[in-house]
Amino acid sequence: MSVLVYVENAEGKFKKSTFEAVSYAKEVADKLNTNLVAISIGNVADATLADLGKYGANKVLFVSNEKLKTFVNQAYASIIASAAKTEDAKVVVLSASFSGKGLAPRIAVKLEAGLVDGAVELPEMTDGKFNVKKNAFSGKAFAHVELTSDRKIISLVPNSYKVVEKPVTAEITAFESTAAESDFQVMVREIVRASDKVSLPDAELVVSAGRGLKGPENWGMIEELANLLGAATACSKPVSDAGWRPHEEHVGQTGIAVSPNLYIAIGISGAIQHLAGVSSSKVIVVINKDAEAPFFKVADYGIVGDAFEVVPKLIEAIRKF
Ligand code: FAD
Repeated sequence: MSVLVYVENAEGKFKKSTFEAVSYAKEVADKLNTNLVAISIGNVADATLADLGKYGANKVLFVSNEKLKTFVNQAYASIIASAAKTEDAKVVVLSASFSGKGLAPRIAVKLEAGLVDGAVELPEMTDGKFNVKKNAFSGKAFAHVELTSDRKIISLVPNSYKVVEKPVTAEITAFESTAAESDFQVMVREIVRASDKVSLPDAELVVSAGRGLKGPENWGMIEELANLLGAATACSKPVSDAGWRPHEEHVGQTGIAVSPNLYIAIGISGAIQHLAGVSSSKVIVVINKDAEAPFFKVADYGIVGDAFEVVPKLIEAIRKF
């Protein structure tokens, strides 16, 4: 038996969330006293695959051909499921990323496995059963889910588990694609990057602003603060609805859920629908001129003040740092 981890790449490189999934899967494999096998799909250089050994992958399977260059949900799920069968994997771990969220249920159906999507901690394991803590209700609560199936699938929320180095020598092996023609009925032809800015779902630092900013012309200071910190920019829903900011920056219940190490909320009231997407951030800093704004209730640090005075001072202080 083994533990299998799907190692997602972006343009041939592994993301931090991938290493988090590998570290998580390694810990599960160690507890089960078994090997960790990684499966990579798409074009990834051998040296990059071998790097996975640093995080404890004993074996790395790779599938690369032209048709699999970009993400194809059904085909990727078929390959991961067949790798799980070949390697007799009792646990399959993947990141709860955009593609991971699409893959996990498909793999679960193919393997007739139990699934926990959105795990935030290592499972407690007793007598072949897993008890897994996961996000529930868009991050407003946690649930403890018991997995009793023989095979188990776990998708891990990015930024909820640390990357740990556990070096071993990884055996790199080609794996034959088992995807059928019918798996390629829906394909992404091309991915066009909207900008070179830090990607919001993977960001460790996020600077976010709301209607308190009054209009799109005032986002210069938000961009400047984000650039100085190496952070991604985000916004509340009304801001993107009004077209002040692009929709891909909208966070919350109906937008992107983020869990960065630092979330700075500027001129955002902290409505429950906004908090649903940001409440699992490690540290929340709120800047709002209304001391009664609900966001302060969940803030680790708060500044009651006018954003147009506070943010320029913050930028000035960081520049001196
Ligand atoms: P406002 O509520 O207008 O708050 C602006 C804040 O800025 C206020 O707290 C004010 O004190 C402060 N402010 C004003 N001027 C300044 C200044 N000069 N300096 C500092 N602070 C200042 N919202 C989301 O964000 N994400 C979602 O995913 C989402 N999903 C929703 C789903 C549903 C079904 C519904 C009904 C609503 C949803 N909403 C969502 C909307 C949500 O309810 C709020 O209306 C919204 O989050 C408010 O955005 P805001 O805080 O930017 O604006």
